[in-house]
Amino acid sequence: MSHAWGYAPKNGPDTWVQNFPIADGPRQSPIDIVPSQAQYDASLKPLQLKYDPATCKGILNNGHSFQVDFADDDDSSTLTGGPISGTYRLRQFHFHWGGSNDRGSEHTVGGTKFACELHLVHWNTKYPSFGDAASQPDGLAVVGVFLKIGADNPQLQKVLDTLDNIKTKGTQTTFSNFDPKILLPRSLDYWTYDGSLTTPPLLESVTWIVLKEPISVSPAQMAKFRSLLFSSDGEAPCCMADNYRPPQPLKGRKVRASFK
Ligand SMILES: [Zn+2]
Repeated sequence: MSHAWGYAPKNGPDTWVQNFPIADGPRQSPIDIVPSQAQYDASLKPLQLKYDPATCKGILNNGHSFQVDFADDDDSSTLTGGPISGTYRLRQFHFHWGGSNDRGSEHTVGGTKFACELHLVHWNTKYPSFGDAASQPDGLAVVGVFLKIGADNPQLQKVLDTLDNIKTKGTQTTFSNFDPKILLPRSLDYWTYDGSLTTPPLLESVTWIVLKEPISVSPAQMAKFRSLLFSSDGEAPCCMADNYRPPQPLKGRKVRASFK
């Protein structure tokens, strides 16, 4: 491969299919969620998120986004309930965002884009590890949360204040004692559908759980996201922005809603 995947014209989402043919598969993500087409399902259970702040370990600029990593060697931080069966462990969370405030989310709602989208990634403990789970149809569950431009969000500040320390690709630092539950909106009403990772290798292993209610983010906070760089130390600086994949064809899939 002459270029690693990314979000520029020459290596962006439209080119991923060359190296990852599943990019054209039957259950790709993200999608445009059309609320009027979603089916209320009374059998969907409430989401149960039980996170232990002590499992939060570090924060990394991976060259595509930044991620906050969690220890996942026991059931200290888990997702249960909702559309899933069994116990899924929290592995990491990360964000996708735009170069300006009118875009940046991966999922859209009736065509509406949000400025940013948070993904909390969990893996099914019926498999031995995250790596094993990531290729199984029921291996991963990702909770997606939209960030909508508005008031300053104080719950985001601890994360944003750390970004100065991981400006370039490949840099990381410790990040501890953080409960990502503080980032969630009041309502845990959600849409759910069967999909995929939204970055290569685009594996079709994700039960998506997209929350209806957005959280807020201020324009100044969004500018802080964009102060990160895609580039490594010593390379020409390239601001990290527009690191989202656009919506993919639904291909007959059903989106279910936990709410009327
Ligand atoms: Zn993501």
